[in-house]
Amino acid sequence: MAGWIGYDQGFTVDGQYGPATATAVRGFQAAYGLGADGIAGPATFSKIYALQDADCTPVHFDWSEVDDVCFGGFPTPVSGTTVAQVKANLMQVMWRAEALRHRLGDQPLRVTSAYRSAECNRRVGGASNSNHLYGRAIDLVPGSSATTICGIARAARSTAFRQVLGPGYPDHDDHAHLAIQSTRSWSAPTCGI
Ligand code: ZN
Repeated sequence: MAGWIGYDQGFTVDGQYGPATATAVRGFQAAYGLGADGIAGPATFSKIYALQDADCTPVHFDWSEVDDVCFGGFPTPVSGTTVAQVKANLMQVMWRAEALRHRLGDQPLRVTSAYRSAECNRRVGGASNSNHLYGRAIDLVPGSSATTICGIARAARSTAFRQVLGPGYPDHDDHAHLAIQSTRSWSAPTCGI
């Protein structure tokens, strides 16, 4: 549900069905043509299950797209995190990306990088504190000509990604970098962000 919280909002998973969850559920319901009452009834659950694969990933994103871009799988996270934490973060990232994809009119999105082991992050020249190291970030490009990198970056501001970097930000002209973090950090000057 996090991806439906609305413009300029973060979302913390705390296990409680609080006001933020109700807001996100209303956004989800409206987006999928359900009665937007903020209550997760049978029609809402049925839609969630229709969007979910057997391994609980969303239908349009899979572990093989978000695993280590250099070596595959989930090798050696940086110290202070675990593979289980990385995968829990990636699950949240994938569901926000699923919301983003729907928001863009069900346009395909291609993942160019998500999790990076410490060695992989060094190889690709990632920032030393990159959200990619923790499975909190995803780099996306359009999978069709119906959307653009700027379109992805703009829409991502409404899907609970608090870090949005894109064209015009150094080294981000060819993809949109979206991440889960607590503070807002958006920069894609070419896109007016
Ligand atoms: Zn990135």
